[in-house]
Amino acid sequence: MLISSSHDNDFSLMWRLWFLGLASALGLSAQVIVLQNARLIDGNGGAPLEAATVVMADGKIRDIGPSSRVKTPEAAQVVDLSGKTIMPGIINLHGHVGMVKGLSQDMANYTRENAEAQLKMYAMYGVTSTTSMGTDDDLIVEIRDEQRRGKVNGARVFTALQGFTSIGGYPTQAPGVKGVAQEVATSAQARAWVNRLADKGADVAKMWVDSHHESFKKLGPTVYSAIIEQAHKRDLLTFAHLYELSDAKGLVKAGLDVIAHSIRDEEVDDELINLLKKNNVTYVATLSREKSTFIYADSPAWLDDPFFRKGVDAATLEALKTPLKATQAKDPERDINIKGLAIAMKNIKKLSDAGVRIGFGSDTGPPARFSGYFEHWEMELMVEAGLTPMQVIQAASQTNSEALRVAKEFGTLEKGKAADLVVLNQNPLDDILNTHDIHSVYLAGQKIE
Ligand SMILES: [Zn+2]
Repeated sequence: MLISSSHDNDFSLMWRLWFLGLASALGLSAQVIVLQNARLIDGNGGAPLEAATVVMADGKIRDIGPSSRVKTPEAAQVVDLSGKTIMPGIINLHGHVGMVKGLSQDMANYTRENAEAQLKMYAMYGVTSTTSMGTDDDLIVEIRDEQRRGKVNGARVFTALQGFTSIGGYPTQAPGVKGVAQEVATSAQARAWVNRLADKGADVAKMWVDSHHESFKKLGPTVYSAIIEQAHKRDLLTFAHLYELSDAKGLVKAGLDVIAHSIRDEEVDDELINLLKKNNVTYVATLSREKSTFIYADSPAWLDDPFFRKGVDAATLEALKTPLKATQAKDPERDINIKGLAIAMKNIKKLSDAGVRIGFGSDTGPPARFSGYFEHWEMELMVEAGLTPMQVIQAASQTNSEALRVAKEFGTLEKGKAADLVVLNQNPLDDILNTHDIHSVYLAGQKIE
């Protein structure tokens, strides 16, 4: 039901109901919060506005602009933010919710309590929207729909419910997720299962197209083309997990909307660049996901960073520092993972310079990929790859809201859009690590505590 430009009217109505529901559920109609005198990065990529004021009411931005122009309504709660910077709430285009506790991945962990705790964790770190990419229990639709009726309980979630793979394909052998991915053999089956997903209320159809270094049979072009075509008939976006350049080309030719991982087998070429631009495809790098596959062997300094520690319990931290460190140090895929990251870093810079739409996503949620902290690490790695902090912020707000086709209501900080924003004590354009220095987070105009 999300998402189609042919259904714009229904779509806006749905979001209007969301905001109205929010206001009445929380008695917010009278509460107006005004953020004054902050530097404003609105997500559109232009120069920041110094001394800006944001008026938030009923979950939305009622007014925004220079403090000299924007009037403060009477009886509003005024917050002076002199010296601070406001940026859009981060939208994560590749995440997973609910299936992990500590470092253990199991669908038995998938409870309302666990899913909501993870959405809350995202929000505390300034990630105000996330997707959940193909490993969900149907329960997520209930949680999402409650959010859309006005409950503010953490990052807004968009779901792929259960993703598609080949029979016995990746990632069916990963711990704890056997039976979650829909193992599909024929186009007819693919179409029927896409219909089932759409009927259950998915926002996205996700597919895995990955042999995992020749270990598994991949979903082939006939079946993935059927998934994409049927998904579009049912107004679902299509996202693919992939690894190889040749698969990226095939999927984009078949109409794919979002590439949800870096191409890691070789450098991208002009043919792919032209296809991505022609089809307006969004490319998401998940660099932190790649680095997480080997970095624990090197005892990264951030394990002791309070900004990381606030989201991790002591037992999990110990598991990262000792057993996972040992496992990664002797991982037979270690060298290939290191090489894959280097190719991924080169590719995102090349694609960005060529004018391809660069989105933002981390693939957080699976074990040792920490919701919240890793989105900040992803931003850091994108800057390390050669993007500017402004490009990264724009990817995580404007581009991602466009990729999800919710840009009329979310993403950039503009009058009439959702009041989802992060206040930073220091300017992230000076140093992307300044996103760690969070003053406050507002989701639907409410301060996340
Ligand atoms: Zn993923």
